[in-house]
Amino acid sequence: MTLRAWTPACAVVLGLILILSLGACRPASSPTETVDLQAAAEQALATLYAQMTATAQVTPPATDTPDPTPTVPRTPPALPGPYQSPYLNPLDTPHTYIQDTCEYLRLKWDSNNSPPGTVVMVIMFHSISKGAASQSYQISAADQRRLMNDLKEMGFEAINMQQLADFLEHNAKIPPRSVLLVVDDRHHAEYFNDHFRPFYEQWGWPVVNAYIAKDERPDLWAENAALAAEGWVDYQAHGVIHNVPITSASSEEYMRSELQGAYDAIREHYGKAPIAYIWPGGGFTPRAAQIAREVGYHLGFTVNPRGPLMFNWIPLADEADPARPSYLPEGPVNDPLMVLPRYWDMDARAHLDQVRLIGKEAAAYAEQNKAIELEYYDIVCAPTYGPIP
Ligand SMILES: [Zn+2]
Repeated sequence: MTLRAWTPACAVVLGLILILSLGACRPASSPTETVDLQAAAEQALATLYAQMTATAQVTPPATDTPDPTPTVPRTPPALPGPYQSPYLNPLDTPHTYIQDTCEYLRLKWDSNNSPPGTVVMVIMFHSISKGAASQSYQISAADQRRLMNDLKEMGFEAINMQQLADFLEHNAKIPPRSVLLVVDDRHHAEYFNDHFRPFYEQWGWPVVNAYIAKDERPDLWAENAALAAEGWVDYQAHGVIHNVPITSASSEEYMRSELQGAYDAIREHYGKAPIAYIWPGGGFTPRAAQIAREVGYHLGFTVNPRGPLMFNWIPLADEADPARPSYLPEGPVNDPLMVLPRYWDMDARAHLDQVRLIGKEAAAYAEQNKAIELEYYDIVCAPTYGPIP
């Protein structure tokens, strides 16, 4: 009860004490006076009681007031950095591309999405010879079949470009060991029928074709449009002029005509807008990557075999390496999804185990840090992002 509530009650008590003391001090002159004094005392007590009752009704007793819950602020734990792999060249380091930490953690641990350690090997093909390989950028049909069989035996499954984009952008579910098979340049339908259709028919494996959008071969457009309609050859953009790779000396106009021209032609001939640009000759610049984004591409591919891809984890180099002079550094582009690495078909088999181990170690590293990341999410993210599905 507050001091203020007591104040009028105290005044009455004081008054009562005063009346009783006066009565006690004076001689008992008349019974009437004694009765009057008793009546005054009773009246004072009744008043005091009424006031206390009224006060009690207005002010709840202290014991009924709930104590405020003590809020001890929780300190979010420091988050671990990305998985570092001993299987990469020391100059090739994992680059992340999702700026929003809460969004990244939510997509990473959502049980409907790909579990950590899900890994994608991108392999590029050019010419495939029926006999022994005789030119550079060529693999024999026997070696290509061996590669395909080894991939299957090691648990890889082929995906298409849309699946890769959904995985890299949103961690959408794909096979835990995925491979994206990318054939560069224009080919007759026979090329796909001979070398890739058997794997589509046996295993349902799609193949991507980085198609050069020169408009000089209507026969090729027609053959490939028929395959596009079947759905298992997935056509993406690979320039128009193609033979002049983009460099820092390229004009804005040339870069735009290559990127926009290829986009428009693929959409027109194959009935589906491309989502990836495969840089002809592996040539790209920061400005070209910006234009690619403006045109509407989601992904870009180089010819640099730096390693496999994982969600928010792309191995790239920030500086040129004299030991590998043909590998343009991708870091300056500042958009990892536009400069994704690819393995070469000729030596891809030698990297299968490396890709498998990177996925396995990344999964173990994520598991080891799971409790910390979930605690961070709970403290920092959950109030605005909601719980992880
Ligand atoms: Zn090419």
